[in-house]
Amino acid sequence: MAKGSCLCRAVRFEVNGPFDRASHCHCSMCRKAHGAAFGTYARVKQSDFKLLSGAEDIAAYASSPRTKRTFCRKCGSTLQFLSEKFPQEIDIALGTLDDDPGVRPVMHIFTGSKAPWYEIGDRLPQHEGWPKA
Ligand SMILES: [Zn+2]
Ligand SMILES: [Zn+2]
Repeated sequence: MAKGSCLCRAVRFEVNGPFDRASHCHCSMCRKAHGAAFGTYARVKQSDFKLLSGAEDIAAYASSPRTKRTFCRKCGSTLQFLSEKFPQEIDIALGTLDDDPGVRPVMHIFTGSKAPWYEIGDRLPQHEGWPKA
């Protein structure tokens, strides 16, 4: 189990299940949404996600067709990535966690859009876009 929250702590949640496929995403949308070199997300089952507070503080933005990114409307923290293709799953922005989820990132994705000022310094597999299969 891992708990998480936004910066102002209006939004608090817990995840009671495994985190899957933790990855660093270098796409321009993740870079902008996080204001960082990349965004790090891991996938959890919708049924394992429990919102503890702040339902009214969560806003959503459609960053591309059929996908939404949620954020705290008070402090602007990026929270989740939601795809209509996978309605039973939530990609959680790992930086919002207050506990260790137990998983470690397994890959870099969308390195084709990587920030020119950032150099990847680990040996994880790199995918130009979505990983194949
Ligand atoms: Zn907040
Ligand atoms: Zn991305």
